[in-house]
Amino acid sequence: MNPTIHPAVDNGVRAGSDSFPGGTLHCHCASDRVEVAVKAQSAHNHVCGCTKCWKPDGATFSMVAVVPRDSLSVTAHEEKLDVVDPSAAIQRHACRGCGVHMYGRIENTGHPFHGLDFIHTELSDDSGWSAPEFAAFVSSIIESGTNPGDMDAVRSRLKELGLPPYDCLSPPLMDAIATHIAKAKGVL
Ligand SMILES: [Zn+2]
Ligand SMILES: [Zn+2]
Repeated sequence: MNPTIHPAVDNGVRAGSDSFPGGTLHCHCASDRVEVAVKAQSAHNHVCGCTKCWKPDGATFSMVAVVPRDSLSVTAHEEKLDVVDPSAAIQRHACRGCGVHMYGRIENTGHPFHGLDFIHTELSDDSGWSAPEFAAFVSSIIESGTNPGDMDAVRSRLKELGLPPYDCLSPPLMDAIATHIAKAKGVL
């Protein structure tokens, strides 16, 4: 049996649409759902093994992407949102009713990813969001209880799904962070 990764990819990764204009995200409450509108296609979608990202029950990984901050707005029940950890670099705005993280925002203007919001495209009924491209922070799933002896099988499955496994972010994103730091220091 294949190790489970995330419900959105366990049966294969579905391609996104090049012309997708964005869509609407909803929390999991039965009523008075928090609604977030995104007027952009997502980018850098990936599955993430860290312990901070919201993931659905039973999933080993979360699935998370970025969108431009100015493309995102809360369009219903913003009063239900709380920041999970105000001291974290990414301020994750979660619904108090169901616990789902609606978006993550970086307020530190010096952060390499300032200007981008983190979203979970699975919260949308709209299809066409960009497909996950890689797996980040894979080793961290051990911190949530995955047996270290299962890691070979997990990494093999990720490769089979076309999601190259990394124990940090993908090389393009790690390069973007390093470039930002180098420019801030004046060495580039
Ligand atoms: Zn909710
Ligand atoms: Zn994560």
